[in-house]
This record gives sequence, C-alpha cells and structure tokens, in this order.
Amino acid sequence: MSTTQAPLQLHILIVGCGLGGLAAAHCLAQAGHKITLFESAPAIGEIGAGIQVTPNVTRLLIRWGLGDKLAKIAVKPEALVFRRYSTGERVAYSRWAEKMEAFGAPYYHIHRADFHRLLYDLAGPSMTLRLNSTVVGCDPEAPSLTLASGETVHGDLVIGADGVKSYIQQVVLGQVNPAEATGDAAYRALIPTQLMLSDPDLKSFVDTPEMTGWMGPGRHIMAYNVRAKQEFNLVMLHPDDGSVESWTAEGSAEKMRADFADFEPRVQKMLALVKSTLKWRLMDRKPLATWVHSAGRVALLGDACHPMLPYRAQGAAMAIEDAAVLGNLLAHVASRAQLAPLLHAYEALRLPRTAETQGASRLNQVIFHLPDGPEQAARDTAMRAAAEAELA
Ligand code: FAD
Repeated sequence: MSTTQAPLQLHILIVGCGLGGLAAAHCLAQAGHKITLFESAPAIGEIGAGIQVTPNVTRLLIRWGLGDKLAKIAVKPEALVFRRYSTGERVAYSRWAEKMEAFGAPYYHIHRADFHRLLYDLAGPSMTLRLNSTVVGCDPEAPSLTLASGETVHGDLVIGADGVKSYIQQVVLGQVNPAEATGDAAYRALIPTQLMLSDPDLKSFVDTPEMTGWMGPGRHIMAYNVRAKQEFNLVMLHPDDGSVESWTAEGSAEKMRADFADFEPRVQKMLALVKSTLKWRLMDRKPLATWVHSAGRVALLGDACHPMLPYRAQGAAMAIEDAAVLGNLLAHVASRAQLAPLLHAYEALRLPRTAETQGASRLNQVIFHLPDGPEQAARDTAMRAAAEAELA
C-alpha cells in the first residue's frame, strides 16, 4: 500500500461493508481520499465461520500494521493433510506453514467475524460508515447513489463492493447478469473444542497443528481450529439441493449428517457434536468483460466482479488485493480526467489474476470431488507419492 497522498482529494462512495469494502476504505483513505461507505445491514455483526488467510493477504495486513493483532487472534497450522473420505487414510501431507512462509508471510486460520472486526477497526476512524443504508439507485455519470430512504448522495467515484448479488455490477454492465450456480453448497459449523478434547478419537484434531481435508465423491470437508483453538471449524462442501446465498441462512444439522453419512467414523463423531449449521449456495461467474462503467466513475471490487468457489481460499484474498491495487493507483490521481484511465489500469492489473483464480478454484472442484474409480485412484497415488517425498 502506498502512503502517497493523492494531489486531488476525491469523495469516494463505497457500497458494501464486507471484507473487500473495508479493505478498499482503508487503502483509499490512506491515499488521501474522503470515504463514505454504505451498508444495508443495521449493524456490524458476527457472521460466518472460519476463513483461511493466505500469504498474499497476510503480507498486506502486516504492511498495514496488523501483524501482531493478526498473530494473536489467528491459528497457524503446520501441516495440510488430505484423507480418504470413507476410511480416513492419509493420502496427502504437506508442510503447509513452511511452504506458505516461503511466499514471504504466514498462513493463518481466523474467524471471519474477527477478520471483519480487524479491518473495521483499521478503516473505521478514516471513513464515514452509513449502516442501514441500502443502495437502490446509482447515476454512473454524475456520479451519485440513491438509498432506500430516498436520500441521494453525490461523490466523485463509486466503488461497488456489494458482493455476489451486486446491484452496482448491473449499473456497470447496463444489464442484469446473475452469478451462476456452481452445483455445490457449503454447510459451515463450529464445534467448541472442549467437546472434542474429551474424545480420544477427536483430541488429535485439536492438538495436532494440522488442517484436515477429506475428499469424497462429489463432496469434501475442510476442518481446522480457530480462535486460539477454542473452536473447531468445519466447512462441508456437497451438491446443492436448494440453498440460498447468505452468510446467515440456517441449514438442517440432521440433513448435514445424512449428506456425509458415508464419511469415516471420526467425521461422524464430529458431526454428532454439531448443534446448528449455516448453509450457503456457492456461486461464481465467468470473468466479466469489464469492471468499469464507460463513464469512468464507477468500478467494481471483490465478489461483485469475481465471485469464485472457495476451493483455493481466495475470494476474500482477491478482494483485499483489489483494494490494495486500487489504493496505490488512486494515490496518484491529480485530475478528474485521470480517473477513467486509472480505473482501467486497475482492471487491467486485476482482471487476469482474478480470472485465473476463478478457473483454478473450479478445477479444484473436479479434483477434490472425483467419483471413486481410476481417476480418483490415480489422484490419490500421485498425492501419496508427493507426501512420501516430502516426509522422506
Ligand atoms: P461480501 O462479503 O459479500 O460483502 C458485500 C457487502 O455488501 C455485504 O455486507 C452486503 O450486506 C452489502 N450490500 C450488498 N448489496 C448492498 C446494497 N445494495 N446496498 C448496501 N450494501 C449492500 N475467501 C478467502 O479468502 N478464504 C477462505 O478461506 C474463504 N472461505 C470461504 C468459505 C465459504 C463457505 C464461502 C462461501 C466463501 C469463502 N471465501 C473465502 C470467500 C469470501 O468469503 C468472499 O469472497 C468475500 O467475503 C467477499 O467479500 P466482498 O467484500 O467482496 O463481499
């Protein structure tokens, strides 16, 4: 992130107070701009479950002065282990912390609400946050936003960080372009680790600094500790059977157990400890033709332009990278005429990387979910060989 102050101060209107919107608010305020952020929700609340934070993001967070706070609230797994769903046999092992740190910053697990709070505390003092403010209209040329209350707010630039169902994206593209169903949905649940520590079969999942994945036909589970190992996070990916895109939609714990009934006995024990679960339909989209409105005053960021499957843990990571790049570029704006070229430079720098990551996340859907058979056997053989080489 640049600490350069832009020669021209802009009033930037950001729509959406998710991880992407908050990161954008911070980076753009650091670049010297005045920020107003609009969020539909009435309060900044605790939502979601665990999230993986990869070195491309921790590098930025450390640069923003959050390294110590992050290390305090996060869990750092030493290894990544993949297991066969039905037997629990280990098919892959990787010294994850070491591998990730080779990219120049640590890899962490964190609770999504803690991550959100961290960014909110960072960005909060240098922005105006308008909660309970659903944006229902946008003039892309003036530009301005209209709220559900009827109020209109004018600014110099609008950033649409309004998530997978983005309204601002419709404004940019001039048409409704809904995200696509990926065919998968995610159950998410947190188990108090004290419940697992009293079971000898489950204790090691808390004690061992590992992230564990189980790969099965059409489904996989990722499991890891969060919140100083006080909670154990489960993300259970499975074929979508009619869920919604919402961080807060409840799923049925009974149905969740039935959907993973053929997974190994330790998974059954874990799932038996789940009291309630959240369920989220996983959406993505093909890369957009553009992220910038033709008038050069409205641009998109995060899931609003590049939603992706979480199978490379890069959705929030890409949104935060977007914010850093946008902040760097807009730290140099000296006239309104430069806005459009700078936004196009932002798109040119970011779109190829996010498009590649969207594709790679889809590829992992195929690899993780292979049906039992020759391709799955070949995948497991290759993974076992890599693990043996790493452990030799
Ligand atoms: P959002 O978080 O969706 O925020 C959009 C905000 O805009 C919301 O607060 C919404 O209320 C607001 N809003 C929407 N419309 C309006 C409007 N009209 N007016 C005002 N406000 C509005 N990513 C990772 O990097 N690592 C992971 O491990 C990871 N795991 C994941 C696991 C699952 C199961 C899922 C579903 C996703 C995961 N992701 C992960 C992806 C990540 O959570 C998202 O990519 C990221 O949260 C997107 O952030 P965002 O700010 O772009 O959008």
